[in-house]
Amino acid sequence: MKQITIADGRTVEVECLSCALTRGLIKPDGGVVLETEYFHAHQDVAYPVRGLIILASKRHVTCLDELTEPERADYIHTMAKIRQAQRDVLGIEHVYYFYNEDTTHHFHTWMVPRYDWMYQFGRSVESVRPVLLHARNHMNDKDHIPRVRDAIKQLSAALR
Ligand SMILES: [Zn+2]
Repeated sequence: MKQITIADGRTVEVECLSCALTRGLIKPDGGVVLETEYFHAHQDVAYPVRGLIILASKRHVTCLDELTEPERADYIHTMAKIRQAQRDVLGIEHVYYFYNEDTTHHFHTWMVPRYDWMYQFGRSVESVRPVLLHARNHMNDKDHIPRVRDAIKQLSAALR
């Protein structure tokens, strides 16, 4: 069991954060961007990057090859749809995709848009963690958060 502090300050115990999110037990601060039959997309504003999306399966599996055929089809279709919305609505030119199978949460893919400020941390996979930490530690303020929430609204609307 994991202790997680949610947006309103309460602490909840969950076995798997992805299960808690996809089942609606905890609401991502920022809201659900898109829900399909097998997947759930949201942004955690704890990482205030415009257009950063976490795409999680609804079923508790950890590895890509554990997805069923319908889940695989839904996964790539949904990810491509979100990607297009990032481009059309937010003008995002490039996205990094990251997921790891040895996670304590279940299957979820980070879709991390690239912005110019991120290149100070490198240009490839090694920059992903520093970029996310920089966003969490230095952009969590009244200038960035409303812009992030606005991007979430725009993406959600485009994906309706
Ligand atoms: Zn789970």
